[in-house]
Amino acid sequence: MSEPSLHRPTWAEISLSALTENYRTLKRQLTGDAQLMAVVKANAYGHGAVRCAQALEDAGADWFGVALVEEGIELRRAGIERPVFCLGGFWRTQGELILAHNLIPALFRMDLAEELNARAADAGRIVNFHLKVDTGMGRLGVPVSELAEFVRALKRFDHLKLDGVMTHFADADGIETAYTELQIRRFEDAVSTVRELGFDPTWRHAANSAGLHAYSQSHGNLARAGAAMYGLTLDVLSPRLATPPLRPVMVWKSRIVMLKTVPAGTPLGYGCSFITARESRIATLPVGYADGFRRVLSNRGRVLVRGQFAPVVGIVSMDLTIVDVTDIPTAEPGDEAVLLGTQGGLAISAEDLAKQADTISYEVVTGVSSRVPRLYQNR
Ligand SMILES: *Cc1c(COP(=O)(O)O)cnc(C)c1O
Repeated sequence: MSEPSLHRPTWAEISLSALTENYRTLKRQLTGDAQLMAVVKANAYGHGAVRCAQALEDAGADWFGVALVEEGIELRRAGIERPVFCLGGFWRTQGELILAHNLIPALFRMDLAEELNARAADAGRIVNFHLKVDTGMGRLGVPVSELAEFVRALKRFDHLKLDGVMTHFADADGIETAYTELQIRRFEDAVSTVRELGFDPTWRHAANSAGLHAYSQSHGNLARAGAAMYGLTLDVLSPRLATPPLRPVMVWKSRIVMLKTVPAGTPLGYGCSFITARESRIATLPVGYADGFRRVLSNRGRVLVRGQFAPVVGIVSMDLTIVDVTDIPTAEPGDEAVLLGTQGGLAISAEDLAKQADTISYEVVTGVSSRVPRLYQNR
């Protein structure tokens, strides 16, 4: 079966074999016996967190990374047993959930350390956490200038174990290397500081997909890959180096639900922003911006029909999009339209779609909304 039959014909195909192959490819790039955290935050970048994590766990994934405690709980409820790391830490009210679901949070605020220690003490447990250091991203993490004082203050928490030190890169996909090299030096200093102050963290991690690809000296003993694992590369990894062989995991498709021939001079869609210049064959697809097919693609994007590009004409509306198939004379109602993926010899990558929509591939795939059913495949 090629698509979910009780839905309108708009769906995303998720290749679990591409996902697990990509995981293995990335893991092979790591130095020494470093482990690889599969980042499955934001519903696995739109690919479906539970199914992706299950496939990855079966394939031997070492760790999972989520942004939110809620996302970690979703994985535990689905039976995921490997370590689950909360990249964004936890919210003040979520200390008990960290314990109950055996999650490992990033930690960077003293009041949250106090809170977590208190909840762990109540439960008679010791909770592992990883200290997040801000080496230059400027978002989350203890600033390096405050690190020693912060680490000293952690000593009083009997129910917490500082089991890792981590940071995050701001520019590892860039052409220039100086800023990432500075972040790596600061991170190494931070790890030394933590050790000098009497802690013995098991884990050191800094690299995202781009860091993993371009800075082997940043691999520590754990790297965290999201985008590259989903087969996103062109706007994720540095163009300075060859791209490893990674396969896109998501394909996004729809079908022509109406096809008509209109005379020259016919306005199409809201605001009549497109007016046909010639007699045209116009196809309507049941997909719109509520599905994540962004409105900015109006009069700008394109899809693949019968192995040829069909331009989007008029304004993308909430549930429907119009494309011009005048130059694809064999097009018929019911034909598959590829929004993301390959057809014939042509391809529309998430990176292509991102460029047309003035964004990055991350936002394209995470933006495919929950209204679009995901169909999981093992090829
Ligand atoms: C999202 C995220 C990652 C993964 O980044 P990719 O570029 O998708 O590999 C790694 N670390 C942190 C802290 C993140 O928030």
